[in-house]
Amino acid sequence: MKAVRIHRHGAPDVLQLEDVPEPSPGPGEVLIRVRACALNRLDLAVRAGIPGMTFPMPHVLGSDIAGEVVAAGPGCTRVQPGWRVLLAPGLSCRQCEHCLAGNDNLCRRYSVFGYGRPGGNTELLAAPEYSVIRIPDDFSFEEAAAAPLVFLTAWHMLCNRARIQPGEQVLVLAASSGVGSAAIQLAVKLQCEVIATAGGEEKMARARALGAHHVIDHYRQDIAAEVRRLTAKRGVDVVIEHVGSATWQSSLRCLAPGGRLVTCGATTGFDAGVDLRYLFSKQWSLLGSFMGTLGELHQVLHLVFRRALQPVIDRAYPLAEIRAAHQRLEDRQQFGKVIVLP
Ligand SMILES: [Zn+2]
Repeated sequence: MKAVRIHRHGAPDVLQLEDVPEPSPGPGEVLIRVRACALNRLDLAVRAGIPGMTFPMPHVLGSDIAGEVVAAGPGCTRVQPGWRVLLAPGLSCRQCEHCLAGNDNLCRRYSVFGYGRPGGNTELLAAPEYSVIRIPDDFSFEEAAAAPLVFLTAWHMLCNRARIQPGEQVLVLAASSGVGSAAIQLAVKLQCEVIATAGGEEKMARARALGAHHVIDHYRQDIAAEVRRLTAKRGVDVVIEHVGSATWQSSLRCLAPGGRLVTCGATTGFDAGVDLRYLFSKQWSLLGSFMGTLGELHQVLHLVFRRALQPVIDRAYPLAEIRAAHQRLEDRQQFGKVIVLP
């Protein structure tokens, strides 16, 4: 069968389409024929190499996976061959105190397809039965692959970490990103007033179409100044920050007294500072977020599956053209999810 593997870290040209042996499902695992796999910033980070982390090589990327169940291994009791499914991207031990409390994304053995174990840039993949979630008949594999990681991340940031309330003002950075497009829709659905940022008229229009009440052009406008103008100098209750160094100081200046900033991803860099005088006197909360729990994924997918939240698809490429797919995401040309089709 075909799979795309990397043998070393680097630019998109390290992605190699190769013939590899077919996997077989072990105990408690099912075999999935992958039909669509969405890219995330995580794919670019792992491909380029993450300082301080080593990945066994060769490695297969791809965290957002949808396909058909081909076979169920020994001990599987629920999942049936023929099901159309997506895979929960996060995997954990299912035995520790965090897992048993339902906080599996705090598990010391928490991992993600394409990150700590082989991912979905392949024709066939063995996956734990508990990660398999059935999709509605009217859902395409592309839509199913576009949903899990970003809606899970946005849900955990907004509902679990920031605990947003109806009527609050929320700033969502980078509407064109997967997390941004998911967070805008979710915050609007939860009756918040949403300010989004986007680069250029076309992406700004698409942010408005997702429901954002105000959109700031992050190429031409000063985000903090615009937020102060839009909120009568008050600032926002919550900032959904996933950009990192490039926007960190500006994001802090957008916070109202008592505001919460939730951060993940740090796609432009990890270094960030905070003036402690502002942190304590304005009583801000700075909150980290990583993925979300399996229970939260099922919860948010209820909304996705009845189309109360829409996966946003930018473009799909054949698996053989995965280098172009990576380049499009790396150049930030996309709006929504870039997908490869094995
Ligand atoms: Zn655990």
